[in-house]
Amino acid sequence: MTNNITDRQKAEWLDIVIARDSGYHCWYCKKPFSLSQNDFSEYQGKMAPHLFDHLNNDRRDNRIDNVVLCCSGCNNKKPHDSDMQILAIEKLHDNEKRDYMREKFTKKVRNSENSEVQISKTNFQICLQYVTKKVDQFGHIDFKETILAIVWKCRKNNNTGSPQSTRNYLATICCISAPFEITKIDGQKIIHRKVKSTKNDSK
Ligand SMILES: [Zn+2]
Repeated sequence: MTNNITDRQKAEWLDIVIARDSGYHCWYCKKPFSLSQNDFSEYQGKMAPHLFDHLNNDRRDNRIDNVVLCCSGCNNKKPHDSDMQILAIEKLHDNEKRDYMREKFTKKVRNSENSEVQISKTNFQICLQYVTKKVDQFGHIDFKETILAIVWKCRKNNNTGSPQSTRNYLATICCISAPFEITKIDGQKIIHRKVKSTKNDSK
């Protein structure tokens, strides 16, 4: 049974293979294919100037890693040329390795993005709980000391936490729609609960 590369696969892979192998040329002899011939509306159903060569000569192994673009001259020569075949196998391994590295890299990025979001959620909760507890206990708390205390709590919890990110959490907790606010008394910044406006009642 043979499974040839489908026309659809060929169309999808062409750009990828060109980008991977740095140009629209025969991978073996580097002879460029004429760009004017690379018009697939014109070439539909006709012969394209390039061929897809199976690097390991296994025509059932239709992975993109296993193909390069090839001119008809090289395609005819390869079955009798052991140097070309050795180069082809090296190229296949190189492609597989690059693919593997790319997968590994993507996974790594995704994992670190996930854990960053998780840590940010956790640290924000630590911050909110600390402020709520301390403000309700003491009426108000010192801004600078609060930052240091929260950084310490975050580091103890998950080994992360910086004064800068804590400042951002505090800014959120003390924003216009949040229950807390930051005010200055005698040059000292403090955090306390917002007092409901009594402007209308006092006059
Ligand atoms: Zn060639």
